[in-house]
Amino acid sequence: MKSFEPYKLLRPHLRSLKPYSSARNEFEGQARIHLDANENPYPETLNRYPDPLQKILKHKISSIKNVASNRIFLGNGSDEPIDLLIRAFCEPGVDKIITPVPTYGMYRVAAGINHVQIKEILLKESFDIDPDQILKAVDNQTKIIFLCSPNNPTGNCFSREAMLSIVRQFDGLVVVDEAYIDFSSQPGLLTEIDSYSNLVVLQTLSKAWGLAGLRLGMCFANPEIIEILNRIKPPYNISEVSQRAALEALSKHSAYQHTGTIIRDRNNLTKDLSKLSIVEKVFPSDTNFLLVRIKSAEACYRFLQDNGIIVRNRIHEPLCAGCLRITIGTPAENEKLLQTLAEFNPQIEA
Ligand SMILES: *Cc1c(COP(=O)(O)O)cnc(C)c1O
Repeated sequence: MKSFEPYKLLRPHLRSLKPYSSARNEFEGQARIHLDANENPYPETLNRYPDPLQKILKHKISSIKNVASNRIFLGNGSDEPIDLLIRAFCEPGVDKIITPVPTYGMYRVAAGINHVQIKEILLKESFDIDPDQILKAVDNQTKIIFLCSPNNPTGNCFSREAMLSIVRQFDGLVVVDEAYIDFSSQPGLLTEIDSYSNLVVLQTLSKAWGLAGLRLGMCFANPEIIEILNRIKPPYNISEVSQRAALEALSKHSAYQHTGTIIRDRNNLTKDLSKLSIVEKVFPSDTNFLLVRIKSAEACYRFLQDNGIIVRNRIHEPLCAGCLRITIGTPAENEKLLQTLAEFNPQIEA
């Protein structure tokens, strides 16, 4: 195994940064009287600062994901670890990240906010990555490669071997965003974080767990990377309300039962969409959405909108000409979508 030292990759000024030490950080034991954090003692609920390291919630996630707690970082959505990773490892105006395209737009935005250059490498026609092409684009300033698998908006998983060959050959961090992994028939790379210290896996409660409103993103990596993120995060980044609600949802498991239903409905919708004459192609999906190539896609998008159905217009994304991205809804919503699409006449509407 190659040696990877996160502290060497870390931006130099952060190596000696002294993180904010909160009252809740400094005292570990059991106390009956808390006079250390300038909290208001009177309200009976939410008057105390939350656990900055979310230990109870991490313990729960640890048992569900079978990953040690010291390999887990929790963020205010996946957006937070995406931003923190760039902020920790990429020097503004100097360093770069690489990502295949088309992909999730947040890597580009987070890089832009941090004044970090992004090199975008076109996926193959098959929507898989070409590891050689990605590795060829690496230079001394390249610190992070973001891979979204299953990929948004193409819906497919990248080849496991291709991703691991990048992890093995790249000297920086490889961040694999697995927001949709629970809808996939592929296992994902979470089991590999023990073997590769430069591998970071992102997951979220926003999709399969049905908790997008909660804003809880999970970042799994070797303990040194987790420690770095903990040092630079806002001290109380996950509110008490979020920690409690997440713990409750994860304890019930019932939210999760919808995953099977959504996969079933995705497969049904794939078949039904394929029968429509305006549909040129429904791409295979490992997610809770379908990328669909449609005749007169722009007009179709507007027609759906006029009929109260909002889908995601992806026609301007590379390799996605004529494509709309459609989230799997309830059976009734999917049926309404099919009916409306059947009424769409490209000759009249376009
Ligand atoms: C939806 C999505 C997420 C989730 O982001 P949150 O901030 O956790 O809601 C992350 N990555 C990708 C690729 C997504 O499509």
